[in-house]
Amino acid sequence: MPGECSNVLNVKNLSAGTAEKTILHGINLSINMGETHVLMGPNGAGKSTFGRTLMGDPTYEVQSGEILFNGENITTLSADKRSLAGMFMSYQAPVEIPGVPLYTFLRSIARKRPELKMNGGVFRKHIGELADKLHLDQSYLVRDFNVGFSGGERKKVEMLQLLLLKPKLAILDETDSGLDVDALEVVSNGIRAYRESCDGALLIITHNVRILEHLDVDRTHVMVAGRLVASDDASLISKIDKQGFSSFTAAAESEQPC
Ligand code: ADP
Ligand code: MG
Repeated sequence: MPGECSNVLNVKNLSAGTAEKTILHGINLSINMGETHVLMGPNGAGKSTFGRTLMGDPTYEVQSGEILFNGENITTLSADKRSLAGMFMSYQAPVEIPGVPLYTFLRSIARKRPELKMNGGVFRKHIGELADKLHLDQSYLVRDFNVGFSGGERKKVEMLQLLLLKPKLAILDETDSGLDVDALEVVSNGIRAYRESCDGALLIITHNVRILEHLDVDRTHVMVAGRLVASDDASLISKIDKQGFSSFTAAAESEQPC
């Protein structure tokens, strides 16, 4: 039974945006351990802004409300502290880091985490196994982070980080966009392996219902114009697949103040 102690994320009446404009308006969202939530909505609705605000991206400021993570108020905590506390986000457009090989990057993020303290040989073996699981050729480990990687390979790198870090909450922003069917399968498998490896929670931001077909979705949320306009179980996904967002958009517009 979901109780206060199994609550990973509790967003209360969150309004946030840039110095110039408010993008998110009064968001309430709660996620328990082991749950998979999906966030859908038309382009420009504020989905990425929400994910980034949760992660502590300094581009966005919280104007009111609060974010509780494992019961702690993290509203003003820096992104690196949120990451060390067990929050993870994969971005719509992953960055490249020229001069830093993928393996070196993974080793350096692992060094900061007590649960990943292991000697070099053990760590190398562990990373090799995760790469194999994701069908990422091990030659990529010595290449510069994401430099010259295809869209599918970059997503595999994100899944590799997910399986290595086993975060308490993983926010995946359009992890499936631009992937061919094979790579989509790898991402689905990566998500499934994460679900099986720990009791972490997922917030999946997506347009693509295909990635959700093999996942056990607990809750689906729809965001329109910076507001959550609907929340329901997994059945909402097939409704959106058939009808699109037009009914939600119309409802949101009629609720807007003049
Ligand atoms: P989604 O991910 O749902 O497509 P976004 O969160 O990217 O939507 O954007 C929501 C709205 O906020 C858009 O109108 C976008 O232009 C605006 N926005 C997002 N980030 C910024 C920013 N850094 N500066 C100004 N406007 C922004
Ligand atoms: Mg987005």
